[in-house]
Amino acid sequence: DNVTSNNGVIDLSHHLSDEARNRLANPLKDIMRVISECPVTDLITMANGDPHHSLYPFQQIMYGLPSVQDPSDPVTSWNNSGRTQMIHSYRDQECALPIRNAFQYSRAAGLVQCKDAITDFTNLIFAPPNHHVMLTFGNSDGLTKVFRLFGQKGDHFLTDEFSFPGMTNCPLAYGVKWVGVKMDSGGIIPEELEKVLIRWDEAKLGRRPRLLYTVPVGQNPTGSTLSVDRRKKIYAIAQTWDLIIAEDDPYYFLRYDVPQTNCASADPDEFIKNFTSTLIPTFLSMDVDGRVIRLDTFSKVLAPGMRLGWITSNKLFHLKLGEYTDSSTQPPHAFGQMFVTEMLSEHGWKIEGFCRWLRSLRLEYQNRLDLLLDVFQREVEPTGYASVKRPEAGMFVWIEVFFEKHPRFVHERCSGGSPVVARTNTECLLKELFERLMNTQGVVFLPASTFAIPENALWVESDGHVPLSDRTRFLRAAFAGTEDMIEKGMIRLGKGLREFFQE
Ligand code: PMP
Repeated sequence: DNVTSNNGVIDLSHHLSDEARNRLANPLKDIMRVISECPVTDLITMANGDPHHSLYPFQQIMYGLPSVQDPSDPVTSWNNSGRTQMIHSYRDQECALPIRNAFQYSRAAGLVQCKDAITDFTNLIFAPPNHHVMLTFGNSDGLTKVFRLFGQKGDHFLTDEFSFPGMTNCPLAYGVKWVGVKMDSGGIIPEELEKVLIRWDEAKLGRRPRLLYTVPVGQNPTGSTLSVDRRKKIYAIAQTWDLIIAEDDPYYFLRYDVPQTNCASADPDEFIKNFTSTLIPTFLSMDVDGRVIRLDTFSKVLAPGMRLGWITSNKLFHLKLGEYTDSSTQPPHAFGQMFVTEMLSEHGWKIEGFCRWLRSLRLEYQNRLDLLLDVFQREVEPTGYASVKRPEAGMFVWIEVFFEKHPRFVHERCSGGSPVVARTNTECLLKELFERLMNTQGVVFLPASTFAIPENALWVESDGHVPLSDRTRFLRAAFAGTEDMIEKGMIRLGKGLREFFQE
């Protein structure tokens, strides 16, 4: 049974991998900490190989940010007027994170000023019960570290049955296997998650999975978003079965069709309150036990090349991630940390301005989604070969293709045998369609097979189960591009489907 420690967070140390347990703190970083706590006021440190800031070849950095003064729609008004707000990082003048500090070696969690700014944002938006923030180079970096914290050869991790291979690929290389959990248009089905855990036979499969990796908002690739009800059920299952939840949430702020906020409000606190009331409660916000590790990134809301994000976790996992960072990547680059710190400071957008940007960005993507669905309705739906559901969030629509209407569709009824062997040629037709669309129509969508987690007969129900390969009948379309790309793409899809099905 779990034991509650005195800070109210459950002891979850038994989840750590051998690697995480065996990792030593970087002794140099530890000495840095000791030095930083030394009471001597005129301490001369000749301990580290730190180039002195007088030799850093940067005097000043200027950033031209979109002005967020237009309260209704900063993204559009910036695109139209180009009105910018200048912010600066200085080496010697006053600013939120001076160059002279930013370019020094620092501790794993990131530079204090940047970490504090992001912690304030995290506390305001997610209000986690008792968690700590560590900067990362984005969620790819963060997840790579998180998976190694818990996984080792022979372990199984749980994830959505269609999951993001950029992430799931990583621990495969050191012997972790993935177990896909059945999903529908609302994401992972809690009862299916529970079923896997109940059915799990440790004698045949080894240790029961202890980590669930999921993308709860605008899931990649299906575009699904977990309802609050499902989140509560999944969290309760995680408590019962002692799971860690890795909440990878790059699309969190891109959630559509939410009630309009009173954006004209001049009062920052009121605006922020209105804005946060349109956001969905996260797993992190419900995490009384400390079993949620949340990953946030600036990739989708500023730019992918920012390579900056953060992990919010309980103290033990925070320390262990820090040990790993101190002996591997080191904290993220100073440029990104300086920019974000100035952006969130009183010299820049502040948290309020960033929220105005996020709100406006969400409207921008919602317009693109509306356009995609309009053109789909006009150009693709009348073919009768595909359909799409409106996603609540993110950048993706999951287009279902009706392969059973294809003249070469084959359905071989197997009697008996393993339930996970494909009974149809859906996957072959999907591959053909992907290639045809690309080579003859000049449009690319990602086939669902790219994301499908291979099934194992040992964790799949034998009765009435439709093999995943027979349900792999989707194309992932992103609406992140321009209106012109979206319009042309959908027209080409309609044409390509007609040609493919009427060959
Ligand atoms: N997780 C998911 C679900 C993603 O869709 C992406 C980017 N496509 C990432 C992680 C990677 O994010 P980052 O750029 O922060 O590494």
